[in-house]
Amino acid sequence: MAGLEQKIDLSINISKTAELIDDSWFWKGNSEPPRDYLGVSSIGHACPRYLWLNFRWFSHDIHEGRMLRLFRRGHREEETVVEDLSAIGLKLDYVLDNQLNIDFGSHVKGHPDGLILSGVYEAPKAFHSLEIKTHNLKSFTELESKGVQEAKPMHYAQMQCEMLGTSLMLRIDVQRALYVAVCKDDDRMYTERVRLDRKYAEHLVKRGQDIATSDYIPSSLSDDPDFFLCQFCRFHDFCHGCSYPDINCRTCSHFTAEKNGRCTCACYGGKEIPLEVQRKGCECHVIHPDLVPGWELRKNRSTDDSACYFIPQLEGEVLNGWEGNSSSEILSAVRRGESDIKAISAQSSPINF
Ligand code: SF4
Ligand code: SF4
Repeated sequence: MAGLEQKIDLSINISKTAELIDDSWFWKGNSEPPRDYLGVSSIGHACPRYLWLNFRWFSHDIHEGRMLRLFRRGHREEETVVEDLSAIGLKLDYVLDNQLNIDFGSHVKGHPDGLILSGVYEAPKAFHSLEIKTHNLKSFTELESKGVQEAKPMHYAQMQCEMLGTSLMLRIDVQRALYVAVCKDDDRMYTERVRLDRKYAEHLVKRGQDIATSDYIPSSLSDDPDFFLCQFCRFHDFCHGCSYPDINCRTCSHFTAEKNGRCTCACYGGKEIPLEVQRKGCECHVIHPDLVPGWELRKNRSTDDSACYFIPQLEGEVLNGWEGNSSSEILSAVRRGESDIKAISAQSSPINF
């Protein structure tokens, strides 16, 4: 009997322990600030709007603790693969904590997993940039049968930019990448040498730069909410439903991602905005009109610093900016619901909350 109780207690403890670990990862991992650049790891994404919303910090990407642990596992695999490659005689540089920081300009950056100086079996003297990825069984099986370009076009695009960037930055000729994939289910490995397609790489970088420096949101990839890419996209509610932006400089009308890599604010005379300020925004924040497609911008009632919106949920016009109402006040009012809408709509415009 005592043994049975022990078993029951033990199982409860194991479950609680796992839950506590996931909780700790949830709070720790999700408090990481978003990237301030458009990374080449996502540059091959088919939807320019996705890349723009991501770069403009529309919303914080929240993951459950289990997923964050899974990302850690992928990250840790780099150490194992580097060790394995070194053990068979490959000479590597710029790996692990010493990765290259490739800045293509205009907010596009990349960090390849390493540079292979020599020792790849098929071409021992050639430079290769290194990309290491973990896969689940389904993804790994598809990769084996189709190859990286077809099975994982985003990884292929990433490697193209990394070969180009490494060549430019180190002034060497990197014509190949070595893709190393590890299956998380059974530890099988797959490697493939990828050839540089310079034109495609340059096109990708230019596309990323154009998206990052665009003042306007790119058009939607599809109007169909069930379109396969939209179905699992974290911006699905924005494109095919209703969701509102986070408040930070990048969702503000006054923000510009300049081609020279600076981020500036028109409201403060074109001054460069420090990164810590960008993350919080300020009281002069004006919601970018492209991020509230259901609201009507009334240009004739707007000023240089504030935007006048007709907001259907509030049944009235609201001045957004330092001369009127702050973005957070307006969004809270909209989210509060109908009872408040009536109270607000009874007031004259601009509304004071
Ligand atoms: S929901 Fe669709 S259109 Fe919108 S960002 Fe995502 S992929 Fe693009
Ligand atoms: S007005 Fe404020 S929130 Fe908007 S870009 Fe300038 S500093 Fe950022």
